[in-house]
Amino acid sequence: MNMELSRRGFLKATGAGVAATSLGAMGFSEAEAAVTAHVRPMKLTNTTETRNTCTYCSVACGIIIYSKGDVRKGERAEVIHVEGDADHPTNRGTLCPKGAALKDFVRSETRLRQPMHRKPGSDKFEPITWDAALDRIARLMKDDRDKNFITTNAAGTPVNRWTTTGMLAASATTNETAWCTFKVAKGLGIVGFDNQARV
Ligand code: SF4
Repeated sequence: MNMELSRRGFLKATGAGVAATSLGAMGFSEAEAAVTAHVRPMKLTNTTETRNTCTYCSVACGIIIYSKGDVRKGERAEVIHVEGDADHPTNRGTLCPKGAALKDFVRSETRLRQPMHRKPGSDKFEPITWDAALDRIARLMKDDRDKNFITTNAAGTPVNRWTTTGMLAASATTNETAWCTFKVAKGLGIVGFDNQARV
């Protein structure tokens, strides 16, 4: 058979032959397995996303907390990753080094996980339940307010001040939470009100 083959045609034919030989040698499934072996599984697969606010400072950057473990099935949810929330108007996904290290703060062995109470005269703090802590705070606030609330000043003008108890709130909250906190403080007549941002 008289076969006429141009130079371009020869190169095409040999190139295709080499490719076919290589694929044939590997086999399709083997090629896929080879690729898969080099791809790390996405660590955020099957995680729960929870939006929150960085607790560190008054900038109050938005964060997304990724946790693994389905609490609805009685599993314990573990925080495995924290990153900036790209949809948050304050930080648009960015975090400073403190915020970027939030996962270690959440998972720290020394993290305080429940209220602590130091009894009068004691030299140590002891853990108490949240219910006990809230009951005690409410009791002390009520007693002090009943005793010291000032309804009018010397001229008889209504002032409704409670000056003997102060509140230190957290500025690292949403606007809505901050609004509610301020309303509670001012509704009670508290004058001494502050947070770590001093605003
Ligand atoms: S990420 Fe940094 S700047 Fe943003 S709230 Fe947290 S500590 Fe403040």
